[in-house]
Amino acid sequence: MNYPAQPLIDNHGRIIDYIRIAVTDRCNLRCYYCMPEEGIDYVPRDHLLHYEEIERIVRILAAMGVKKVRITGGEPFIRRDIIHLMESITRTPGIEALHITTNGTVTKNYIPQLQAMGVKGVNLSLDTLDRERFLKITRRDMLDEVLGTMHALVDANIPVKINMVVLGGINDDEIVTMARLAEKHPVDVRYIEEMPFNGGGHAQQTTWRDHHFIAERLRSEFPGLTLIPSEKSSTATNYGIHGFQGRLGIIPAFSRTFCGSCNRIRLTPEGVFKTCLYDRGMFNIRDVMRSGASDDQLADTIREAVGHRATNGFEAERQAMQFPYLDNSRESMSTIGG
Ligand code: SAM
Ligand code: SF4
Repeated sequence: MNYPAQPLIDNHGRIIDYIRIAVTDRCNLRCYYCMPEEGIDYVPRDHLLHYEEIERIVRILAAMGVKKVRITGGEPFIRRDIIHLMESITRTPGIEALHITTNGTVTKNYIPQLQAMGVKGVNLSLDTLDRERFLKITRRDMLDEVLGTMHALVDANIPVKINMVVLGGINDDEIVTMARLAEKHPVDVRYIEEMPFNGGGHAQQTTWRDHHFIAERLRSEFPGLTLIPSEKSSTATNYGIHGFQGRLGIIPAFSRTFCGSCNRIRLTPEGVFKTCLYDRGMFNIRDVMRSGASDDQLADTIREAVGHRATNGFEAERQAMQFPYLDNSRESMSTIGG
């Protein structure tokens, strides 16, 4: 491949410098908004991207200007030897930041290695501080493990963002309680709108809570809530409160107000390359690689896909619905990676 390659810019002039890689669709929790109790039809192991293949993709993308990688899943820490892939990504020339999204249930043991490799941040999913509710939402009794991970990450000085999916009638009365985590600890708390990717596990919420509802709840409890300017590509509207150690953020994941500055692409565990959370995938990079494509050919295929990117999540969704034979009503966030 000719280095350095041209930067990756989509057909709307947006620079792509961030990839989110879901390394597995398997998970040890069963969050009801993500997958049904019985799980989903997992990708057979030989269909997964191998680590060497992921390393190659990251190397090619880094040469095209991608600087940030997020490892997600499913639960990334239940894929064998995941630490080795993470270490290798941090050593890739051009990659400046490795971030991880995890449910925190088994993450604690890996923290020394994460610290040593210089992970820039961990997003920890936590929707409630109530044990019974945690069990109800995730169908597993593991709140203590997640809290243990949060404290250990803070002790290790790894920046932590808590991700709370706000669920009407389930945990929306904990918006303020969760905010107080950012008062007591140096962690950011981010509220995420529920999206319709639950593996067919349940119908969309009747009491769906949007970003306006969340902002109102925070404003009424914290009159001193102050808007903090964020990076252009940020999906969150961020706020500070005097005396709080961390920030609060609201992510309108379903309302999609941030698409105009979106800088990210996604890779599913079996290599589907997505230029939008809401698209059906542009092509399968694993198949292209396994057919013997060179680095240059891979780079061209990536550039071609990025050159046909939807303007926003609504357009991507409309386009996806033009292919009704590709039923994605059972799509789970554990395949997309969040
Ligand atoms: N298992 C890891 C975890 O839970 O952090 C990583 C994968 S998970 C799919 C990534 C993020 O997607 C989590 O923060 C999770 O809360 C969020 N998520 C899953 N299903 C969602 C849905 N239907 N709507 C909104 N967010 C969702
Ligand atoms: Fe697992 Fe994360 Fe999905 Fe919960 S949100 S079931 S932890 S992949």
